[in-house]
Order: sequence, then C-alpha cells, then structure tokens
Amino acid sequence: MEPSELAPPKAANLLHRASGLFHQAHGGNRFPVDIDVMAKGAAELFGWKDPITTIEPVNLPNFEGMLATNDSKSKWMIAYNESLLSPGRIRFTKAHELGHYMLHREKQSEFRCSKEDMFTWEGGKNIEAEADKFASHLLMPLDDFRSQMNGDINFDSLGYCADRYGVSLTATILKWLSYTDEKAVLVVSKDGFMDWASSSNAAKKSGAYFKTKNNVIEIPEKALALQDNIKEERLGTKTAAKIWFPHADSDADLKELKIFSEQYDCTLSLLILPKHIDCWENSRY
Ligand SMILES: [Zn+2]
Repeated sequence: MEPSELAPPKAANLLHRASGLFHQAHGGNRFPVDIDVMAKGAAELFGWKDPITTIEPVNLPNFEGMLATNDSKSKWMIAYNESLLSPGRIRFTKAHELGHYMLHREKQSEFRCSKEDMFTWEGGKNIEAEADKFASHLLMPLDDFRSQMNGDINFDSLGYCADRYGVSLTATILKWLSYTDEKAVLVVSKDGFMDWASSSNAAKKSGAYFKTKNNVIEIPEKALALQDNIKEERLGTKTAAKIWFPHADSDADLKELKIFSEQYDCTLSLLILPKHIDCWENSRY
C-alpha cells in the first residue's frame, strides 16, 4: 500500500521504521530524527522517481513553509521561512512539508503553509491537520513519547522531551494533549488576550475549552498568566478552577503552569484540571 493511502500516523511510522533500520545499520542516535536525511531519502526508500532534492531557507512572507515541484514533476523542494528563529519550529515545518510530500503530492504541485496550519492538529480530512499529525508522529513517536512522559507533567518534563525530539515546547505540549486522559488545556496569549488554545479530549468533553477562532477572549484577571511579576511557574501552582472556567465547581482547584517566551512575546499557560471536574454552563449533575 502506498503511504498516501495510509492514515498520517501510519505513514509516519512507516518512514520511521525504515529510518530506524538505517540507523541500526549505520549507528547514531534515534532522536532527534534527522529530518533532512529522511526527506531526501524517502523517494529511494519507497522506490519513487520524484525525490525531494532541495531543503532551504527562503524569504516567504506570511508563510512558514512550502513544498513545491518543478514543471516536469521530477523533483521537489522544501522551503522554510528564514525568519523562523527556533530550530524546533524549523524542524516541525520541514516535517509538516514532508507530510504533504508523503500524503498529498499527487493532488497538488505546490503547498504553502501558514503558522496556523502548523497548529491545526485536529480535523479528519483537512490536509493541514494530516500533515501536522504526520509531523508529530514522525518527530515524536507515540510509544517513545509515552514512556518519557509517565511521571509528573510540568514544564521541566515537557522541556526535557522538547530537547529530546528537537521540537518546540508548544509542539511537545500539543503532543501530550493529543493522547492524555487528563483534562488539560493549553492557552497561548499575547497582551492579555488569547491567541489560540487547545484542549485534550477529556477536557473538551467536560466543557473545558476556549473557542478562540474569530473570537476575542480576555485572559481572566486573576489568572497567573496575567501576573507580570511572575515570568514563569514551571511546576505549576494551584488556582481556583472558577477563575478560568466560571461554571466549574466552586471549591475545585486546577494546576496552572506558566512560561513566558521572550522570543515570541507570548505566554504559554497549561491548565491541568481535576479528573472529575465539570465546566459546562448547565451542569448535568
Ligand atoms: Zn501544510
């Protein structure tokens, strides 16, 4: 079966297994994954005649990454925005474009991907979500990720994983949210307003989520996220759940973690809620 017919995680596993064999044969560490070697070697691994031959930084206003072919469709190039400063984001962008190459290149000859496209991890048939899922599984295979994250969840353990896989802290948190049974919400904010947010499935089911798309949502006044004198709280501190979720039980506390990114001028807040909390407006209990 061709990788383009597989679900994104399976296509990523296929490439990962093939590269794992390569590493076994040639030595070297399994992580972080060498995206350039994988991207340029994928065609040979699968016997394709249109390899990725070029991976380079370019000036792409409003885009983070691009995958494009030549007129005769005999080769492809991956380009990433040269103003992307963090190596983790560059690696994720390359892996996302490799995902389009593996899964979608028969449908289009060019893919231009925005910052929003890099954080659209959900949505079944959307090709951007598929490329993100592919990138996430390629860079952070689930079995290995789970075994690394089986202790306390905080910005130290998540940061350790970000280093292990060579990805951003944001991508690491999204990975954890994608499978955890915990009720947890990531909020990315700027100047007191939510830029975007993402919830684990369990959190969504209990009403703990924010609809940030086409919506202006202020960070709650008493939230740690707004306390300018505290730049970070890596291990988390107790906050009344009601501060963030007005319909939550009045006596419930959540764990709020905070980190401020000077580089991107934004605050990451990770909210970890108690297992039995209910945040719906009209509680069913
Ligand atoms: Zn894309």
